[in-house]
Amino acid sequence: MVGAAPPLIELRDINRIYGGPPSTKPAVQVLFDVSLSIEPGEFVAIVGASGSGKSTLMNLLGCLDKPSSGTYLFQGRDVAQLSPDELAQLRRETFGFVFQGYHLIPTESASENVQMPAIYAGMDEGARVARAAELLSSLGLADKLDNRPNQLSGGQQQRVSIARALMNGGRVILADEPTGALDSRSGAEVMALLRKLSNSGHTIILITHDHEVAAVADRIIEIRDGCILSDSRPETATEPRLEQPLPPPEHRRSPWVSEIKDATRSALRSMFINRHRTALTLLGVIIGVASVIVMLAVGEGARQRVMDQMGTMGTTIIYLSSSSPPNGVAKGQLTEEDLEAIGELPLIRRVMPVIGDPITVRRGSVDRQVYVFAANETMPDIHRWQLAQGRYYTDAEDRDLAPLVVLGHRAAKQFFPDMDVPLGQQLLIGNSPFEVVGVMQERGADSGAQAYDDMVFVPYHAARARVYQAQTQPDYVVIDAQDSSTVLEAEQDMRQLLTQRHGGREDFSIGNAAARLQAEASTRQAMSMMLGLIAAVSLVVGGIGVMNVMLMTVRERTREIGIRMATGARQSDIMRQFLTEAVLLTITGGCLGVLAGAVVGIGLIFGGVDVVFSLRAALGAFGCAVVTGMVFGYMPARTAAALDPVQALAGE
Ligand code: ADP
Ligand code: MG
Repeated sequence: MVGAAPPLIELRDINRIYGGPPSTKPAVQVLFDVSLSIEPGEFVAIVGASGSGKSTLMNLLGCLDKPSSGTYLFQGRDVAQLSPDELAQLRRETFGFVFQGYHLIPTESASENVQMPAIYAGMDEGARVARAAELLSSLGLADKLDNRPNQLSGGQQQRVSIARALMNGGRVILADEPTGALDSRSGAEVMALLRKLSNSGHTIILITHDHEVAAVADRIIEIRDGCILSDSRPETATEPRLEQPLPPPEHRRSPWVSEIKDATRSALRSMFINRHRTALTLLGVIIGVASVIVMLAVGEGARQRVMDQMGTMGTTIIYLSSSSPPNGVAKGQLTEEDLEAIGELPLIRRVMPVIGDPITVRRGSVDRQVYVFAANETMPDIHRWQLAQGRYYTDAEDRDLAPLVVLGHRAAKQFFPDMDVPLGQQLLIGNSPFEVVGVMQERGADSGAQAYDDMVFVPYHAARARVYQAQTQPDYVVIDAQDSSTVLEAEQDMRQLLTQRHGGREDFSIGNAAARLQAEASTRQAMSMMLGLIAAVSLVVGGIGVMNVMLMTVRERTREIGIRMATGARQSDIMRQFLTEAVLLTITGGCLGVLAGAVVGIGLIFGGVDVVFSLRAALGAFGCAVVTGMVFGYMPARTAAALDPVQALAGE
């Protein structure tokens, strides 16, 4: 035995049994009490006929598989004690695998394949690219860096896989039938390469069925039916062979960024390779995101229109008029005293009785039917409307029956086309002269109130005395409550007061414009919530599409996952890669969905629908899409991460 230091590799009584409980397959024992030790720097060939258990042994040596019983000590450490991440680290930093079938990732270039172990080791990009180029050049592939595996010959592919095995140092090279698929010349080249690596200090474990190939090694272990038959360890090997120190790979402890870059690159490639499938999946996400955005925008548009309508009159307006009580007695009367009593209620701010009818109004030769709006001095306040010229009449003038008139914007133009400022002029309303004291501002096209621009406004009492002589009570009364939050209480108080004053009869009716509009708004809101729900459902459907595609991707790329694991990817790396793919898919879908939503929304605007886009809705829908990708990508990603490396490598 060699010195005091433990051997590099020591196997004690290793057995490997496939199948058996808990699986339903019959138990097959492949390795029987295998014990061997390998020193640093040795070049060992394990020879045996096909089916003798060589690959099984190599998978155990490379920590891709675990023995059913027995102990594997690596540098004196029991490998069975290591966590999956520590095993991944061992594979990444110590072992380099070379397989009969090369096991290169078909969608990546030679250089990218070689770089993979370094990505998981956290080497930074510049150093990684340079080292891959250097390794490939030293193996005669300087001009093939960007070739895909299918653009390379078998011998070239095997050299790429050797370069990959050396990327992180490759202290121990495990080569399983590396020449098995090669013509004899390429095979000889690969063997010469392994010889050279051995001479420069790498420990090489070569597996072959070919004794001629095995002869290149310093030591030959023969295996048959899972048992070691002979071991040619030469006596001379007792003198310790110093392992040449290899350039340690540069380790950076945050492989995150480069891994995500790598994952993004491979995701984009796989999306492109399966572009029809990708397009269909994206369509689901796009429809989901776009419909969320459009539905919310339409809902918001409707809500804002209602708000606008409420805004012109305020949210505190209550209408009151007399009516016949349900039991059909005479119609009630709203007296001046009733209105005064209402005005004194604490929750009521203003009371405005209104009489209005089309009346003939004349000035010189102009003679028109005009709606004469008789109300008190609170009209501009209640209607949130200001004067353009002159002034409004006062409460005192109203009570004095002053014959004053304020003109709507268009009425002023119609009666005084010759004058910019008609203040002080006379108008005949009915048969009574009224003096113009003011002109209102243009009401304009906001909220369908432009009919007000045609009206003229006169004091309530003056109109009743001079124009509406037959009228004993207002057509209706506009009541302005103190506050929109107490408008319903104000209505209650008013109803109670009037019922009491009218001897218990409810011979009046109260309408609340704000309440009606609010009810309308909440119906619309319920409607848009329902639409939003439909949209959300379609987003979920999109997510399920993403999951479906990701599951297919994982199944199709089982071998790639195995390769990544053999080169040292942790389970979390695999998980991150597939999650990145799912999220990338939904981010792409989300972006296109936002775009589609905007296009549809703009189309609706041209179609006359009220649409109000909100950044929040767009960001929300986009965020939902990304979260959907994460949620629905999680399961496939976990499936991928949980794959067994040996089985994954064997997968098609
Ligand atoms: P070799 O590489 O020497 O050709 P293997 O190690 O691949 O041999 O296989 C040795 C034996 O183990 C073969 O008989 C094979 O059928 C069996 N075997 C390998 N893998 C499995 C498995 N996953 N399940 C069941 N039997 C297996
Ligand atoms: Mg084999």
